[in-house]
Amino acid sequence: MAQHPRTQAIRLQTERTAQKEHATPLFLTSSFVYDKAEDMAAAFEDDTLDVNIYSRFKNPTVDEFVNKIVQLEGAEDGVATATGMAAVFASFMTFLSAGDHVISASAVFGSTHSILTKYLPKWGITHSYFDMTKPEEIEALITPRTKMLYLETPSNPGLDIIDLQLVGDICRKHNILFVVDNCFATPAVQQPIKYGAHLVLHSATKFIDGQGRVLGGVIVGPKDLVYQLYLFIRNTGPSLSAFNAWTLSKSLETLFIRMDAHAANALALARHLEGHEKVSRVKYPFLPSHPQHAIAVKQMSNGGGIVSFELKGGIDSGRKFLNALQMLSMTNNLGDSRSIASHPASTTHSKLSEAERQSVGITPGLIRISVGLEHIDDIIADIEQALQQS
Ligand SMILES: *Cc1c(COP(=O)(O)O)cnc(C)c1O
Repeated sequence: MAQHPRTQAIRLQTERTAQKEHATPLFLTSSFVYDKAEDMAAAFEDDTLDVNIYSRFKNPTVDEFVNKIVQLEGAEDGVATATGMAAVFASFMTFLSAGDHVISASAVFGSTHSILTKYLPKWGITHSYFDMTKPEEIEALITPRTKMLYLETPSNPGLDIIDLQLVGDICRKHNILFVVDNCFATPAVQQPIKYGAHLVLHSATKFIDGQGRVLGGVIVGPKDLVYQLYLFIRNTGPSLSAFNAWTLSKSLETLFIRMDAHAANALALARHLEGHEKVSRVKYPFLPSHPQHAIAVKQMSNGGGIVSFELKGGIDSGRKFLNALQMLSMTNNLGDSRSIASHPASTTHSKLSEAERQSVGITPGLIRISVGLEHIDDIIADIEQALQQS
């Protein structure tokens, strides 16, 4: 019987070396040696051979990290990248050609939006955006050149949820590659392949690392598609470093227990904020007031670690709130053991016009909290005193 994913996240490990190490070893080496000239020749003859050549191609520590994500996501195979954005870019570059069309949710990560709008057009690849809350409008956007549908659920920072099964069915019907950025949920909470996603990718920098230390990315899916991604990454170079893979693989040992704790703290915070005199709206997937709560409960095992809320006082209140925080960190990362607050309208999304911000759900007083693992009473106390000054 296959082990439970919780166990696999802890026990999957590179084959023990002659040193009899207990914790996983770190293979910090650029290249690998051969016993005979014939072995070296054979290694280069066939790209599909499972042999260590050079760490841009493959490395045992990186393989260990990838194998764990493959198991947790219920995929066939996977490949790692240096960052989450390298995973996004590799997915576009590997499967899209001049003249092709991508359909994407409008609420995608800022740099993904930049690739779609600033870089892909240079190679004649066009895109259409749909609203996460209106999946019924997706089919009308499909053209004969539509190759890929791309989305994140929950979205950042709006925390909109889309029905993965519904989108998966549309993609199957029209023979479109369905790609999901599963960074906000992690495979401990949601496995999009179950609902028809072909490729699932991650910024491993966030909850997978979970302690704000290293950058990394990973893409998993069917063997034939992953092989094409592998060749793109092997030849163009955005490979994951062995050190970062080692850090991330160790992090996966605590992924499930951390996600449970992030979600418990996040739900408690969301409940505290709902109905608060300074707050007009709270969004958290597992609050019954979330517009897509029923879908969230269907496809996620908990609500994840991100809560957003709207300050009644708008943009000025947002700045005051951030300045008044004493414990929560003001930083751009998320998915850390330390709680983090951000105010998208005055920071990450300040360059967008008001209309563009509205279209991706960023209202003037929107605050995003990446709820950490500190004691919930301390998280609430800091947010409460900052709210009083906002
Ligand atoms: C951070 C993030 C990315 C980009 O990942 P990096 O590791 O920073 O390159 C992509 N998608 C989502 C949803 C993210 O939060």
